[in-house]
Amino acid sequence: MRCPFCGTADSKVVDSRLSAEGDAIRRRRMCVSCNERFTTYETAELSLPRLVKRDASREAFDEHKLRAGLMRALEKRPVSTDAIDNAVKTITRKLWATGEREVQSRLVGDWVMAALRELDEVAYVRFASVYRSFQDVNAFREEIERMKNRDESQNKS
Ligand SMILES: [Zn+2]
Repeated sequence: MRCPFCGTADSKVVDSRLSAEGDAIRRRRMCVSCNERFTTYETAELSLPRLVKRDASREAFDEHKLRAGLMRALEKRPVSTDAIDNAVKTITRKLWATGEREVQSRLVGDWVMAALRELDEVAYVRFASVYRSFQDVNAFREEIERMKNRDESQNKS
């Protein structure tokens, strides 16, 4: 970290502590050249990208809404709450990992589809039939066929 007093590029950390709220690290630094002390704060970038919907409207990503969507698709299915929580975490992390300020909401929809496909095929079909009905009927039909074929080949072996 560059010294704000003399501009030397090097400083050393003499003290490091967590803020009272636990959301920042406060570091006392000392310049290796002029020995002046200064403080830096380190915080996490806490903004998830906003979602761009098909009509180009924007909305904030809502973890509760995501969980509710998964729960609805998984209603009365043999999938544990832990597994649902993990799926929510995985999708939220993926959203973080994009590093974007905005992403297409369709992308999140695709991740939900992928998660449901892993968790439970019935729930996957339920979600896909709603989610994909307007945009891609043929792809959905192909997916059902693909699943049927896979089940049949599994039964044979
Ligand atoms: Zn200095």
